[in-house]
Amino acid sequence: MPTMKRCALPDPSGFFEIRFESIGGLGAHAAGQILARAAVLKMNLNGAHFSSYGSEKKGSVVRSYIRLGAAEKPIRTSAPIDSPDVIVVFHGALMEQDVTMAGMKDSGTLIFNGAVDEVHEKLELIPCGTQIVRIDAMNIAVEELSRPNAVMLGTLTRTLPFLDADIVLKALTEKFAHRNPQAAAANERAFLRGAQEFELLEGVGKGTGDLPVIRPSPVLGYETAPIGGVIPYPGNTVSNDLSTSRTGLMPLFKEQDCIHCGSCATVCPDFCLVWSHEEGKVEKTNGDSAVTVRLKGIDYQYCKGCMRCIETCPTEAMTRVTETPGLADQLRVPLFAQSTPTN
Ligand code: SF4
Ligand code: SF4
Repeated sequence: MPTMKRCALPDPSGFFEIRFESIGGLGAHAAGQILARAAVLKMNLNGAHFSSYGSEKKGSVVRSYIRLGAAEKPIRTSAPIDSPDVIVVFHGALMEQDVTMAGMKDSGTLIFNGAVDEVHEKLELIPCGTQIVRIDAMNIAVEELSRPNAVMLGTLTRTLPFLDADIVLKALTEKFAHRNPQAAAANERAFLRGAQEFELLEGVGKGTGDLPVIRPSPVLGYETAPIGGVIPYPGNTVSNDLSTSRTGLMPLFKEQDCIHCGSCATVCPDFCLVWSHEEGKVEKTNGDSAVTVRLKGIDYQYCKGCMRCIETCPTEAMTRVTETPGLADQLRVPLFAQSTPTN
């Protein structure tokens, strides 16, 4: 097994900066809180933590920032972290976007949530000096009835020797001990597996030097908006793509078990179930032709993985599976003849 590069806290004049790239529902914000709290209250470090996220609780992009420094180094900035020492990617789909890995340092560490053998093509852009760590956080979380944030915290503390893993684990346990003791025990198991079951990937990053910083800005501003506020190219929900809203799990449709009752369609909030309408297949008693409606599958472009269809299905024709790279594309039944994701 390759030797792990252990990141050290910088000299007292600098900060050690960590950026979590995640999707609402995976627990990145809570993980950042736990880490910063443990560092400040129990490890004699200075620290700051904050997150940025959209209006939705689940499914939108979340960035969580942790800035740490020596006790004598005051932290007087709350600016987003552009060039982190460590980037932790909680969802593999985020690696499609250049902004996820923006500012990655050649001397830094990238930890990503990925299944065994998963090597995203964008990892080639990572600087060749960056330590790349893969952890199958979603599968571990499912097996331990925990969440990926507990696993990712375990892996992260293993790469940062100045963080005391026992203290971070204790902080994680304390957060849930009163609310849900069972969750606390599950998180502990997930954390310990995260600290042990990661893999170091060598020879994957081919970039030279630090990756450039990207600061996303609105497409339209006061200088670029068309006169009168007209939007010449309005958006269309047909081209929307909700696949990044799925937090590692997806519904799987088994046609052979389906009785085409339609229960799933009554609860699906995004109308992503695809039905066939076959006229004339059933004759009503009065002789009129009728329409047979049958469920064909799921258009995963619009499925946000809420799992309501699974909860309502009376025959287990819908089941919950871990999403592996390419699975949704392979099983997708398109709702429209042409619908190309634009985001
Ligand atoms: S609820 Fe289950 S059985 Fe009914 S249509 Fe949906 S998948 Fe088929
Ligand atoms: S998980 Fe099921 S109910 Fe939820 S959006 Fe996807 S298909 Fe619809």
